[in-house]
Amino acid sequence: MAGILFIISAPSGSGKSTLVSQLLTLVEGIDFSISYTTRAPRGSEQDGREYHFTTRDEFLRMVAEDEFLEWAEVFGNFYGTAASALAHAREQGRDLLLDIDVQGALQVMKKLPEAVSIFILPPSPEVLEMRLRNRSQAERMTIESIIERRLAEAREELKQLPDYRYALVNDVLDQAVTELRAIVITERAIAAEDRQRLSESDSVTAASCRTATPSSRLETALATFRQP
Ligand code: ADP
Ligand code: 5GP
Repeated sequence: MAGILFIISAPSGSGKSTLVSQLLTLVEGIDFSISYTTRAPRGSEQDGREYHFTTRDEFLRMVAEDEFLEWAEVFGNFYGTAASALAHAREQGRDLLLDIDVQGALQVMKKLPEAVSIFILPPSPEVLEMRLRNRSQAERMTIESIIERRLAEAREELKQLPDYRYALVNDVLDQAVTELRAIVITERAIAAEDRQRLSESDSVTAASCRTATPSSRLETALATFRQP
């Protein structure tokens, strides 16, 4: 195993957590980096499982002591990836997956240009709004201003999509999971310089998600976000 660093970013509500949890059941040898955050736990989230929930003081102490690979303020809360998570994965020869926002992803790309970056986007702003509403209703906390803010934020985040190596549209869940898996398998084969063991279908699927050669599916989704 090459110890590849995968970065996944997506506007909130795109379905990133859903995709990542499915990916982790399909491929072995990949660890999910549990971030530190100052936000309060949501729904059934547990400390040490989805996040390490911490205080602002403790977070700022970690910043001062240079304990983060990257960190950022997102929706008024701090989020950060402990540098020790990467060191640990490397020691074990395991791949590491970071689920981080665009600001953090850009910091990691700068420090570690070999990292494999993947952007997930919803098929349109309308679908994103519906998913945000469904999720917040399930958590009994629909707040109009939060939904509006996340939609506006999504349009901003999408501007950074060309900086990512791959992008996939989370329309039909199974297709998006297949694409995400194909990207991981393909990047592993590239890192191991063993493209022969790569199936034609994984290779073609991953290539269809390269941002350098955007697919018509990607172009269509992006166009819906450009409309006022
Ligand atoms: P994120 O982690 O990006 O904020 P979630 O994984 O929490 O998003 O997904 C937001 C909502 O959309 C959830 O209710 C989830 O069940 C739903 N969802 C995710 N992917 C799809 C999909 N492909 N089709 C329909 N609903 C989806
Ligand atoms: P949520 O609060 O919905 O779980 O996450 C909000 C945003 O913070 C998401 O875009 C998520 O990817 C991002 N995020 C989670 N952990 C980190 C982290 O460690 N660093 C950065 N920069 N962003 C993070």
